[in-house]
Amino acid sequence: VPLVLTDFLDRAVELYGDKVAVIDGERKFTYSDMNRRVNRLARGLKNAGVEKGDKVAYLAPNSVEMLEGFYGVFSVGGIMTPLNTRLKPEEYRFILTHSESKVLLVDHELLHLVEPILDGVPALEKVVVHGDYSGKHANYEEWIASFGGDPFNREPLEETDIASLLYTSGTTGEPKGVLLTHRTNYLHAMSAMHHLRVSDRDTLLHVLPMFHVNGWGSPFYYTANGATQVMLRKVDPKKILQLLHEHNVTVMHMAPTVLNMIFDEFEANQEAMHQQNVRVIIAGSAPPPAFVRKVEEGLGWEFVQVYGMTEIAPLITTSVIRSAGKEIELEDQYRLKAKAGYAMIGSRVKVVDERGKEVPRDGETTGEIVTRTNTVMEGYFKNPDATSAAIRDGWLHTGDMATVDADGYIDIVDRKKDVIISGGENISSIEVEGMLYEHPAIVEAAVVAVPHERWGEVPHAVVVVREGAEVTEDELIAFCRDRMAHFKAPKGITFTDELPKTASGKIQKVVIRNAFWKDRD
Ligand code: ATP
Ligand code: MG
Repeated sequence: VPLVLTDFLDRAVELYGDKVAVIDGERKFTYSDMNRRVNRLARGLKNAGVEKGDKVAYLAPNSVEMLEGFYGVFSVGGIMTPLNTRLKPEEYRFILTHSESKVLLVDHELLHLVEPILDGVPALEKVVVHGDYSGKHANYEEWIASFGGDPFNREPLEETDIASLLYTSGTTGEPKGVLLTHRTNYLHAMSAMHHLRVSDRDTLLHVLPMFHVNGWGSPFYYTANGATQVMLRKVDPKKILQLLHEHNVTVMHMAPTVLNMIFDEFEANQEAMHQQNVRVIIAGSAPPPAFVRKVEEGLGWEFVQVYGMTEIAPLITTSVIRSAGKEIELEDQYRLKAKAGYAMIGSRVKVVDERGKEVPRDGETTGEIVTRTNTVMEGYFKNPDATSAAIRDGWLHTGDMATVDADGYIDIVDRKKDVIISGGENISSIEVEGMLYEHPAIVEAAVVAVPHERWGEVPHAVVVVREGAEVTEDELIAFCRDRMAHFKAPKGITFTDELPKTASGKIQKVVIRNAFWKDRD
């Protein structure tokens, strides 16, 4: 069997045809129903002229349309090109043009974001709108209803054919288009489903946006296992609680910032907390052990950290506890789970110094994470220079700094670009942020390097204060100085209502940092 992603849908239809595949608001489809819709969509795409290798762009929140879209696009040999829902019109023009998208499927609530630029996108031939829409573009339901749902004669695919063109978050600059083959996505799904123990008893609530790579891999491995996938269109903790109960959700992938909101919601509604069945939360972005404890003890949910990036499909490490038959103290478990973890099946992961030599496995020496993995990208689309800068001697250079311990547990220290170099000392912005998060008044914090006459750079914090709480700049600085080396404590604090974020909820430190440096350049 070639490692082609439609294989996952075929398996689910055969083994779980009558099982609910997807729930999106009032809409519910079994795997067989969904498959018929996929066949209609595939015919529609073919009719619109989509051929093998053509890009089909999606601008949609988590939805039935997006999930079936993957399999519809693959059925005609197309390349799925999901777009971030929080970009500006100019950025859409850039990505739609750069990707050479031929068809755009867009949610009716998001159409206004792209409408102004659609005329300026050369390759685009058709726009189809999901949801409540009538106008000059096609309405999705009417469009697919005009094609038959019986088995579709799929475009033959090789596993080395490109399946997806995903743009990176753009946390550190311009988004880059990442090409992944069917094989990479397939092998990633196999590894992830194993490590996360995905089964047909699972109901996943899609909290992370599917258009982004963190949420992206999951539709494949939950489909392959006949799990039910519940769509969350917009992150809203009240809605999350409601859906957890209503659909007996067992698993969620999410950012720690969203988990924080859920805590607050549960605190206000203790009863709700006891009426849910979640088994595990899968999260990225290095929370402190105290946070892991809070999730595991406070909510009774297993916490698993994963690490990855768009360029590697995305996950290559997990912190699922590996006991090898030994009992591991709870405190140690929390400490280990707060790390990015160890290599998943199919990936080799090393932490290396500037010369490419492995750093000692002492849990202290910092180096860059590099990986050789079955799930590495083909390259950045139309950007060979960036590709050869990222993949050198067969190893993908992640740009993330970490330590590694004797058991192979990787602990992320910071992005290379976010490390603050102050008087010759390297300061992890993440470490300083972690300290600020321990202060009860702080809900969000970003620490960046700002220019300094004497030290070159010093850490500066931009924070959002919890509603109703009060704290001064001096108090926060003193709080950090009391608890960490003085050179690491922020030298100044800026209070703000909101931090700039990417659509996947990541704080864009580059935007914050640039504001402090712009007078210098
Ligand atoms: P761009 O590459 O466009 O600047 P980006 O790197 O944020 O954006 P993604 O591919 O979405 O784009 O994110 C990958 C990055 O997210 C990793 O390189 C790493 O910095 C961060 N990350 C992922 N998992 C973790 C984790 N468990 N802990 C800390 N950071 C993580
Ligand atoms: Mg990146």
